[in-house]
Amino acid sequence: MYQTFVGLEIHIHLNTATKVFCGCKAHFGDEPNTNVCPVCMGYPGVLPVLNQHALELAYTVSLALGCQLSHRTLFDRKNYFYPDMPKNYQITQFHEPVGQNGSIEFALADGTTKKVRIHDVHLEEDAGKMIHAGDMTLVDYNRAGYSLLEVVTEPDLASGEETEAFLQAFQRVVRYLGVSDGNMEEGSMKCDTNVSINKAGAGLGTKVEIKNLNSSRFVKKAIEHEQKRQAAVLEAGNKVSQETRLWNENRDVTETMRTKEGGLDYRYFPEPDLPPFVPDASFLKRIQDAQVELPLARKQRLVREFGLSREQADFVTDARFTADFFEQAVRASAASGGSAMANWLMGDVQKELNHFNLTLEACPLTAGRLASLQSLLDAGRIHTKIAKQLLVSIFEEDKDPETLLQEKGLESIATEQQLAPIVESVFSAHPNVVAAVKAGDARQKGFLVGQVMKATGGRAAPDLVNALLAKFLA
Ligand SMILES: [Zn+2]
Repeated sequence: MYQTFVGLEIHIHLNTATKVFCGCKAHFGDEPNTNVCPVCMGYPGVLPVLNQHALELAYTVSLALGCQLSHRTLFDRKNYFYPDMPKNYQITQFHEPVGQNGSIEFALADGTTKKVRIHDVHLEEDAGKMIHAGDMTLVDYNRAGYSLLEVVTEPDLASGEETEAFLQAFQRVVRYLGVSDGNMEEGSMKCDTNVSINKAGAGLGTKVEIKNLNSSRFVKKAIEHEQKRQAAVLEAGNKVSQETRLWNENRDVTETMRTKEGGLDYRYFPEPDLPPFVPDASFLKRIQDAQVELPLARKQRLVREFGLSREQADFVTDARFTADFFEQAVRASAASGGSAMANWLMGDVQKELNHFNLTLEACPLTAGRLASLQSLLDAGRIHTKIAKQLLVSIFEEDKDPETLLQEKGLESIATEQQLAPIVESVFSAHPNVVAAVKAGDARQKGFLVGQVMKATGGRAAPDLVNALLAKFLA
């Protein structure tokens, strides 16, 4: 039996307005080579100026991941040539990264949790983007100099499935912190994956690196492919060679890209154009203030505090906005529990969002409106079917539930006094059916219920209808 070890190097674009060492706009999707200047184009003689906001976000992530924060952080030059990097070196952090020795806990599919150690968190600049078009290659330098945060994990993950869950959890963390949109499809989160396998108990095997995976599903598939490929190499009595491979998403295999360069080839040395950064008390206070309750902790708390099921808690805490919305709505409608509110969000609210193609952030339903809707239900002023109807009206008309209730006259007919005359008129309109039911034909009772509901426009409380019919038929 083989054991698998997976470590990740996750890159995220920090959402700073400008690039990390110059004032160029950091914006996705602009006309190629429009957000460039002599600094990010690597002209001789220019000087980088560190973006303070990028550094704050880097420290914010490091603290959230429980890292030891650097008291004197340095930048280093990593020397290599590539057409998308006009300076011929990348400014990164090698000797004194922003954070080291952290960890992140996340939930596995079976509901248990696992801790992955973080080796370090460092800030660097992104390269440009190469666009291969037929025989030509074009380069867009808009991305050159984007603030890039690299989070390096220890090889603590043991399968493709675990790694996929970890990446999704990590993405939630950066989104909760508001430091990045973490969007893998748009390239604001990428990951290099190191995979090795070995006989169980024999420790790490020979590491193979898979470059530039842009979806957590591809990461899972690439790891699973490597597990089989490396096992076959070992079974044949050969050694796995240390190399960099690429994921071919059309064929679902990894392919050799290059054999691994040694670390020394990069000739790292301290960046002479940037002084060391020493965070002061006010800087550290801002980092502290930027911390939030992380998704896993929040999920566990919501389960504890509101008795949510795992499925409900997963849904509600997937995005911080939804979790905030949920908590506000529950607190504003004191009578009912969290479970009813979670069901609204997972069921009918989600259905309307899909129908109107809206996000919860941008839709007319607010936490306050959902809370009043639930309060109307709790008070017995409307029943479920009418509540669902009102929800649709909120989406269509952008009004409060109470206003809509009055305008549409949808308040429940919930007292015997209101309902009895209606039942009587239904009975006198259908004497044959009444006689049949009284004679023991219970199947026709449904018809009478239907007639009462029709006569009340669906506003009669179903329990009361049944109770009154039983009384009148007795
Ligand atoms: Zn620039």
